[in-house]
Amino acid sequence: MVIVMQKHTSEINIEHVMAELTTRGFDVHRSTGSDQTVLGVVGKVDDIDPREFELMDGVQEVVRVSEPFKLSSRTWKPEKTVVNARGVMIGGDDVVVMAGPCTIESEHQLFETARRVRRAGARVLRGGAYKPRTSPYAFQGMGIEGLKLLRAAGDEMDMAVVSEVMEISQIEAMLEYVDILQVGARNMQNYNLLSALGQVRKPVLLKRGMSATIQEWLLASEYIMSGGNYDVILCERGIRTFETYTRNTLDISAIPVIGKLSHLPIIADPSHAVGRRDKVMPLARAIVAAGADGVLIEVHHDPEKAVCDGPQSLYPDQFARLMDELRIIVPSYRKRVKGEE
Ligand code: PEP
Ligand code: MN
Repeated sequence: MVIVMQKHTSEINIEHVMAELTTRGFDVHRSTGSDQTVLGVVGKVDDIDPREFELMDGVQEVVRVSEPFKLSSRTWKPEKTVVNARGVMIGGDDVVVMAGPCTIESEHQLFETARRVRRAGARVLRGGAYKPRTSPYAFQGMGIEGLKLLRAAGDEMDMAVVSEVMEISQIEAMLEYVDILQVGARNMQNYNLLSALGQVRKPVLLKRGMSATIQEWLLASEYIMSGGNYDVILCERGIRTFETYTRNTLDISAIPVIGKLSHLPIIADPSHAVGRRDKVMPLARAIVAAGADGVLIEVHHDPEKAVCDGPQSLYPDQFARLMDELRIIVPSYRKRVKGEE
């Protein structure tokens, strides 16, 4: 249920309604818009008689939210969320490009790749330190040593950094090094992990599970937001279909669908979607043309030698060309490409 307060109503009226809800045992999530405040009420709301609240001072209307997702919905927060990751704004006017290797392998590999993607205009550096590998025999990541390199590269290159968290016990140590905590497709329904991320105050990049519906994905974001962490970025990364030619099938329609249903920033990852380098550029162009707030792309300074996901990693030159193409597409409908100063 949401309670829409009247435009420009007083703070006293808002606090009075919130106090009444809290006294009755409900969780209240406040969304303060530029001229209107909306209160999201979570709990056994079926017991509430809406008239009781409709009659309170400053209340415009009481709306039952029919969708199962609440805090991620536009009903609770009509205005788009802009997530601030170390000064990089995601969900605002710019298309933000996040790029880097699948996994951090060495100082040389990470810094070389970071330099190249930064020069081309990427503002967020990606790199996995804990890797969810399909095979237990594959390289599992450098762990904390990798995160230290990632932070150092981000600082030197003036980039925000994103890395995947796989379990609750990794969160605390990661907070020191990363600006965005990534939840991978395989963990989208790890509800204990999501709830734990609701307790931190750092942006979370939530990838769509490979067989998750849009509703399941938004409900996963609710686990984070209901803990009070509202800085969630959604990332479409391809879903499993009957098609076997590509690694996954990019669900491009998820971009405008999420844009309508939710205020959360939506980005997409063409690399894991298609799994082949030669198809990453056209998909990235389609992603920004569809209105995404950003793209997440795997780039490696020497993809043939990559430990992980080399065949889907762009060469730095290809990435630079892609950035030039995005700079042509993006202004034609909405935004600038971040990094274009
Ligand atoms: C990744 O981005 O490194 C990754 C493992 O992606 P996904 O969770 O989408 O498979
Ligand atoms: Mn990868």
